[in-house]
Amino acid sequence: MRMVNKILPVMVFLLMMAVGSLLAQVAQITLSNYTFSPKRTSVGVIAFTDPNIALQKIVLSGVDARLFKVKQGKLILNQQPAADKKWLDLRISAETKNGPVSADFRLVKDEFLTNKVIAHRGAWKHTGATENSIAALKHAIAMGCQGSEFDVHMSADSVPFINHDPHLGGVSIAKSASKTLSELKLSNGESLPTLRAYLENGMNQNQTKLILEIKPSELGKASSLALSHKVMDIVRELKAQAWVEYISFDYDVCKELQRLDPYVKVAYLNGDKTPAELAAENFYGFDYNLKVVQKNKEWIKQAQEQKLTVNVWTVNDPDAMDWLLEQQVDFITTNEPELLLKKISKL
Ligand code: MG
Repeated sequence: MRMVNKILPVMVFLLMMAVGSLLAQVAQITLSNYTFSPKRTSVGVIAFTDPNIALQKIVLSGVDARLFKVKQGKLILNQQPAADKKWLDLRISAETKNGPVSADFRLVKDEFLTNKVIAHRGAWKHTGATENSIAALKHAIAMGCQGSEFDVHMSADSVPFINHDPHLGGVSIAKSASKTLSELKLSNGESLPTLRAYLENGMNQNQTKLILEIKPSELGKASSLALSHKVMDIVRELKAQAWVEYISFDYDVCKELQRLDPYVKVAYLNGDKTPAELAAENFYGFDYNLKVVQKNKEWIKQAQEQKLTVNVWTVNDPDAMDWLLEQQVDFITTNEPELLLKKISKL
């Protein structure tokens, strides 16, 4: 009996892990694009994350379904919504050889800004907000940045939290329960934000993208990959795909995100892959340190030729900003979003 008492929790744990990993692998309906615009009728391709399984008999339902139709596997905006509608909600159902599938999506009116300014950990340096706080995100949105970047770690019980370092005030995020972490305060008095709360705050608007960095776990590769699954589950559950673009230093994390969703926008941070290598692996772009880009200036043009996006971090020097703007990079990640916005407005 004593033996059973010892073994049973271990077996339950292993069973939960196995079910968890199976659930995370379940294929889903995905879209190649999550925005709509009065300027184009095609929204994007409706596909399945398992490329070996085709979708058949696609049916649209939900509150805004009447505005759309499906034509040759593409989602088409059939009728313009009211001008003040910032997003439309839609359920897509289909048949597969393995049975029926369905998923809910939020399609967002494309009013996203294109001014290249990505606020690094939000806008905190001149606003008084703590970096990676929801307040810093709100400042970046209010300022009109194209994107606001933030860092994600995962608690011991698999809840993603927003913080740059793996520890906050000596407490390890990866080794602590979410209940303990929720009681921690940032220096501006805000609670340590969960990814869920952070995304919900970012989804109140449709001008600033959310640049989500998946941090490699101090517990190793398996935990980093588990975080990738968890993040994507939450993004899907909240229907946040239109807002979120991914970045990571961990190449395997980037590849796992692509495996979970072939249309995901993911840029690599670590600076050790050429544009040709990234293009061959279907990356959205590179997001490299300024020193790496200064050393490999030809990578900018090569990336542009390969239709990869170019993002450079962390660019706080005015001359470096000017040089990158001349090179027509796509994004500049900075702790000085105010300065860069001012430069852009004068161009
Ligand atoms: Mg970061």
